[in-house]
Amino acid sequence: MHDSALVLFSGGQDSATCLAWALDRYAHVETIGFQYGQRHAVELECRATFIQHLRQRYLEWDTRLGADHLLDLGLLGQISDTALTQAKAIEFEQSGLPNTFVPGRNLIFFTFAAALAYRRGLSVLVGGMCETDYSGYPDCRDDTLKALQVTLGLGLDTRYVLETPLMWLDKAATWRLAESLGGPDLVSLLLEETHSCYLGDRSQRHVWGYGCNQCPACELRRKGFERYRHEASR
Ligand code: ZN
Repeated sequence: MHDSALVLFSGGQDSATCLAWALDRYAHVETIGFQYGQRHAVELECRATFIQHLRQRYLEWDTRLGADHLLDLGLLGQISDTALTQAKAIEFEQSGLPNTFVPGRNLIFFTFAAALAYRRGLSVLVGGMCETDYSGYPDCRDDTLKALQVTLGLGLDTRYVLETPLMWLDKAATWRLAESLGGPDLVSLLLEETHSCYLGDRSQRHVWGYGCNQCPACELRRKGFERYRHEASR
């Protein structure tokens, strides 16, 4: 019976949408987040606020939502020379990957999530990874995560299901999914209380939410929201 889930929840738009998706679907849902020396703690601050608002606005989801777990993975900051964890500018490397890439990050996150899920008796792991308009992170690929599902199942001798509801959606479709799950209230909550900007800028509020409006994450979020709004108005 796969009726309880652990959601990888960073405080960003994608993982917040996944949290709503899981609450709509499973009887019991818990959340896990990671501290790993991010240059900006903004996302982590958004986590708590988003959960608090979600509980207040959606009483049925409130009853299903269990503990939030925050794990310290500071050692990732030690081994990663990236723009997110060091004071460097965001740029694209020869591989085509942005230097914000923490190598293998999602493998590590899911492995820790599985270990926690084992202890908590949860059998579904949910993540916001997406192949459609992603930055080329190889650990976001569907095949990577399908292989990891098999590995974790064998390694922990427990059947885990790794769910990635956004895998084949573009950013406009992700907004539509949120609207279908929680109506316009959820769209507003995502705009107001989630954070995607690589630079951690929450000083400027745009129609698509807060951010610097310059970095690749802001560009992706802006374009997706504009397309979502454009399609809704037709
Ligand atoms: Zn930005």
